[in-house]
Amino acid sequence: MSEVRHNWTKEEILEIYNRPMMDLLYDAATIHRKQHDPNVVQVSTLLSIKTGGCSEDCGYCPQAARYHTGVEGNDLMTVNQVKAQALRARESGSSRVCMGAAWRNVKDGPEFDQVLEMVRGINKLDMEVCCTLGMVTENQAQRLAEAGLYAYNHNLDSSEEYYKEVISTRGYQDRLDTIDNVRKTNVTVCSGGIIGMGENVEDRAGMLVALSTLNPQPESTPINALVAVEGTPLEDEKPVEIWDMIRMVATTRIVLPETQVRLSAGRTQMSREGQSMCFFAGANSIFAGDKLLTTPNPDVNEDMKMFKLLGLNPQKPFTKKVQPQTVEAADSQFETLGEKPKWSRPEHKIERNEVAKAKGKLVK
Ligand code: SF4
Repeated sequence: MSEVRHNWTKEEILEIYNRPMMDLLYDAATIHRKQHDPNVVQVSTLLSIKTGGCSEDCGYCPQAARYHTGVEGNDLMTVNQVKAQALRARESGSSRVCMGAAWRNVKDGPEFDQVLEMVRGINKLDMEVCCTLGMVTENQAQRLAEAGLYAYNHNLDSSEEYYKEVISTRGYQDRLDTIDNVRKTNVTVCSGGIIGMGENVEDRAGMLVALSTLNPQPESTPINALVAVEGTPLEDEKPVEIWDMIRMVATTRIVLPETQVRLSAGRTQMSREGQSMCFFAGANSIFAGDKLLTTPNPDVNEDMKMFKLLGLNPQKPFTKKVQPQTVEAADSQFETLGEKPKWSRPEHKIERNEVAKAKGKLVK
């Protein structure tokens, strides 16, 4: 029952999602226990290394320049600032640092070179390094791999159909192309999505079809509950019910049995009991730190108290895969090509995105 399958259909996934809760929990927990230590949870710290001012129109994102959300933009952090934050994260129990930059895509040049130095610096601290920098070319992915990157995050967000209702400035295939570029290296793939954006259950199943069809499946899949931020097109969406989150986590665990399922954004809205059910249903990673890029997250001490209460242990770094070697910039075997990833501009209009943009202009 827990073999990895790449031919899941939407109907099969919907059947799992809609099982009676006790059956769903039992099935997911059984698979979880076969593939993973149920008392170990991987802890990542997410660091916004460059905040705000993004050119894209993702309807959930407070960092899109076109909406007025009060997020203050910041320039790229320095390598030393990032290393200092990584050390703090390690002291508080994180095994991974995930660096996020509000970019549509990586551009070759001094800023990317600075990010590569950050990757080198954190890998040398014996921590797993993840980046989420937008679209990347194969050459850029190779350079990240050479610097010692452990994982690259690029979420599919939702089903292909619903993606068009949330983002108009790029297509779903662009997401898949970046994941494909990362897959050509030895960097692991982190890709998941967000629930609570107004999608239906079929869209949730559709996203899991897309993720499970990837071969290999992502090593990590974040399941986010939308944090509806004022000023974004999705500001009026209702908070996700905990039962939806538990169903989504359990279904993800069954469809992606070997993947680390990450409880990501939206944890502040969940009780400890709710989070415990998610861990039982197969979630085995969280993000620590009081902020997730720009939205609130539980305090690290609160998380450690919860771990103690539940007898959970933070996962040690490089448990699932050996530590990558870091090659210094001077010894790189990859040339800087000065290229940009190719992407599409579907340019269809999403009414609520247009309304939010118009409101943003008024306020600015
Ligand atoms: S999710 Fe990423 S690409 Fe989309 S607007 Fe936010 S920072 Fe930009």
